[in-house]
Amino acid sequence: MKQLVVATRNQGKIVEITALLNGLVDHVSSAADFIDFPETIEDGDTFEENALKKAREAASFTALPALADDSGLVVDALNGRPGVFSARFAGDGAGDAANNTRLLEECRNVPGEHRQAAFVCVLAFVTPEGVERLFTGRVAGRILSAPRGEGGFGYDPLFLVDGFDCSMAELELAEKNRVSHRARAFMKFREYLATME
Ligand code: IMP
Repeated sequence: MKQLVVATRNQGKIVEITALLNGLVDHVSSAADFIDFPETIEDGDTFEENALKKAREAASFTALPALADDSGLVVDALNGRPGVFSARFAGDGAGDAANNTRLLEECRNVPGEHRQAAFVCVLAFVTPEGVERLFTGRVAGRILSAPRGEGGFGYDPLFLVDGFDCSMAELELAEKNRVSHRARAFMKFREYLATME
């Protein structure tokens, strides 16, 4: 595919996504490359609704094939929260540090054996011609009681990845890009793109 616009301004995600699309898309642009790129209101109840809404607006604004992701952390003991509210768990405009503090507080009394969680990523691919596809990826883990590691972003330091003895923030970017929820959704998207060529 020649060109694809990724509907995000999050630098952390842009870096990861560009690496994940390596070799399949000649030119990846993002919301940051356009003036007045629409600010989609993420008011859906599910990752799917939000991802589709963002991709539709991006495709219609740029007249390019668009990809949007909606992702977040789903904690079993919190009945699936923060879920679609992951970015603003500690309130509108809250940063990673405040969200992580809130997560630690809410999980304070949850014993180790009940700290299961998952990162979930839903990718929506929408073209100006009206093609719409969804791809879902998931990685399971546990919520730590104190942060570990300096890499990644968001809740990475508090997420112990199943099958690894380290947090998501302790993984090298290349390793995170093999096992993460986003990586798994992208794997499916890459397979789909490959069948289109
Ligand atoms: P959104 O997909 O831009 O709505 O972001 C959802 C929120 O989920 C982010 O702000 C992070 O707090 C969290 N999140 C999504 N993906 C990751 C990840 O790979 N690591 C850590 N946190 C993540």
